[in-house]
Amino acid sequence: MNVIFHPKYLEHKQLGTHPESPDRVVSVFSRLEDEELVGDIIVPETVKREVLETTHGDGYLSVLEKNFGQYIDGGDTYLDEGTYEIAKLAVGGALEGVRRAVKGERTMALLRPPGHHAGKDYGGGFCYLNNAAIASNVIDVNRVAIIDLDAHHGNGTSDIFYSDPNVLYVSAHHHGIYPGTGEALAVGEGPGEGYNVNIPFRTGRGDSSLELAWHEVIEPILLQYDPKLIIVSFGTDGHYTDMMTGLTYSSQCYIRMAERIIRIAEDICDGAVSFMLEGGYHLRSISEIVAGMIGSEYEKEISLEYTKVSDKKQNGKEEVFETKQAMEKYWELS
Ligand SMILES: [Zn+2]
Repeated sequence: MNVIFHPKYLEHKQLGTHPESPDRVVSVFSRLEDEELVGDIIVPETVKREVLETTHGDGYLSVLEKNFGQYIDGGDTYLDEGTYEIAKLAVGGALEGVRRAVKGERTMALLRPPGHHAGKDYGGGFCYLNNAAIASNVIDVNRVAIIDLDAHHGNGTSDIFYSDPNVLYVSAHHHGIYPGTGEALAVGEGPGEGYNVNIPFRTGRGDSSLELAWHEVIEPILLQYDPKLIIVSFGTDGHYTDMMTGLTYSSQCYIRMAERIIRIAEDICDGAVSFMLEGGYHLRSISEIVAGMIGSEYEKEISLEYTKVSDKKQNGKEEVFETKQAMEKYWELS
């Protein structure tokens, strides 16, 4: 599994002390180096405006192009003079990932800035352009499944595809925190009804609950949807060390999920799967998770520091049941 990365991603900085800092990817690279897991680094190219226009509105793009020197949301997501150019390079990284995925090459794109909170006409939550959504719209593939493992609901991605059956959006997230969306009953609308799947976990849910969601909801829906490409919005902020959310996943939980997704991609879509970084703010946990998932591709065991499992009893089964109830109208769920 090679890494997609542009050195300019390190130049993207929010104002002041901010959790979404370049240190995140610096730390990941340093761990990959320690583990001798840095293979070929694929440096993506930038994209033209028309690529962005597949997904974002003209007015919003003009704001990103010209109105720098201000926050684009309440005060979390600052638009600096160079932000737009770097955000376009992140989109380029996402495109590179899906283009390689459909040829059977797996990659982890260490993108900054992240993308899943950016909608058609808005940004926020440290996101400007929706990397995964643009990649889904540009790649010439009939059915794309986006699995969002970031602990925040990817409201941008969800909104963009809410009435689109050609993209299945699945998110397991901590419900009740930013951005506040992602109810089980938000199932999509019009032709997209049934193609928006939310598992809204309450505080403290962890490994066994996510595994339950995988077996009861995510895996059966994926098998029936039969995507030709899987994109993983890979955020590690559901880890118990991560102070941004209240979920309690362990490092091995994330690594196992990545392995499961790779296996199912091999079974149903010739291994076409592309991983893209979203959130994840605890430097040591994000680093060992990424090293662990890349290591597992090479059958190299990584020694993990953060392996505590606090949810062993499927504490989130009520939430998984809620999702099943919302979804069984559209999918066969046992
Ligand atoms: Zn997040």
